[in-house]
Amino acid sequence: MNITIIGGGITGLTTALGLHKLGIPCKIYERTPQLAPVGAGIVMSPNAMKVFKWLGIDQQVAEAGVALKNGVVTCQQLVPLRKPKEDFLKDESNQFMVALHRAALHEILVKNVPAGTLELGHELHHLENTSGGVKLIFNNLEVKTDIVLGADGLHSKTRSAIFPHSKIRYSGQTCWRGVSTHPIPDALKNSSTEAWGWKRRFGFVNIGKDMIYWFAVISAPDNFKPVEKNINRYLKEQFRSFHPSVIGIIDQTEPDHIIQNDIDDLERLSCWHKGNICLTGDAAHATTPNMGQGGAQGVEDAYYICQTIKKYDNPQQAFKSFEKIRRKKVDKVVNTSWTMGKMIHNSIQQPLLKLILKSMSDKSVTSQMRNIYHIDPPMV
Ligand SMILES: Cc1cc2nc3c(=O)[nH]c(=O)nc-3n(C[C@H](O)[C@H](O)[C@H](O)COP(=O)(O)OP(=O)(O)OC[C@H]3O[C@@H](n4cnc5c(N)ncnc54)[C@H](O)[C@@H]3O)c2cc1C
Repeated sequence: MNITIIGGGITGLTTALGLHKLGIPCKIYERTPQLAPVGAGIVMSPNAMKVFKWLGIDQQVAEAGVALKNGVVTCQQLVPLRKPKEDFLKDESNQFMVALHRAALHEILVKNVPAGTLELGHELHHLENTSGGVKLIFNNLEVKTDIVLGADGLHSKTRSAIFPHSKIRYSGQTCWRGVSTHPIPDALKNSSTEAWGWKRRFGFVNIGKDMIYWFAVISAPDNFKPVEKNINRYLKEQFRSFHPSVIGIIDQTEPDHIIQNDIDDLERLSCWHKGNICLTGDAAHATTPNMGQGGAQGVEDAYYICQTIKKYDNPQQAFKSFEKIRRKKVDKVVNTSWTMGKMIHNSIQQPLLKLILKSMSDKSVTSQMRNIYHIDPPMV
């Protein structure tokens, strides 16, 4: 069977690794002509790390980053809302969360994909189910294949070809991300920290020696661009009432490497597949990043879809089974993340959310996190 993956991001590359592990060859078509070290940081939660372990690359990922002990929500002055609990970010199999540079994660995934799998410089323009499989039209190539896995992200062409009415939702928040060299307070080292203020929040985590990944989120209209062209100065002004470490982190960031994205997600699709084409990762269910789960959910998709393809001869049966396994959790992550983002930026709901966070027992927090970190044992 011929399998074509569209998109060489976290989801597409992890899927190719999973298929390869199960002895199923595939090809990835990625529009980027050249691999370049892009992006800021990313946190890979235990569910993703367990998939990486299954693939035999967990040590490489762990060594490229920092294992996190805590997830801390603080006030603007970096005082935690609740006493940090050491193994909050660990799951029952002792798997920690790992924070690393996105470029490092990408490099590990690419390096482990068998030679000849990843084809760069091919941008998908259109595709359609045919009687014998799927026909794909790229900018520079036409391909016929048996199965297509669309892992081409939030603005997926695969999705718009099969579900032209899908809609992207803007959360009302925009985000800047960067990597800084400014030290963070000792008490917050090896923690993922998020400080909440008035219609804004600032998060940071160390991803290596003298390397801090940070993000800054503010409420703003769609496509907002500040008038102030000096972005460090603009952000320092926006976060002036925050702890001096926040200002230092912004200050010691190369302005050219600061990335801005609107925070969007995808309105729930009623189905992820049509004929021999199936969507995975952000293409199927992009979420807002408030739970740090978007990439991890793509990695989980990869884990399950390669197994359902292996298990069933019929692609439609494989896709149905994949969606049945994944739906409940994905819906929960997308909805909870959306609601959390709205509440954090709402002047009445933020105090309520803080109260809930403060009053939750450690047991209940751990149990909720463990549900998210859970993956089933391999099925094939
Ligand atoms: C601010 C922010 C912070 C985040 N933090 C985290 C975090 O800490 N942890 C976490 O797990 N997740 C996080 N996420 C979410 C995570 O980044 C995404 O969920 C993840 O990157 C999705 O991976 P993907 O491979 O599905 O899609 P993408 O990363 O979008 O990859 C899609 C790939 O397809 C290619 N492509 C697109 N169109 C075409 C085409 N027509 N033809 C060929 N190729 C194409 C693209 O070039 C790209 O390489 C965050 C997101 C944001 C916005």
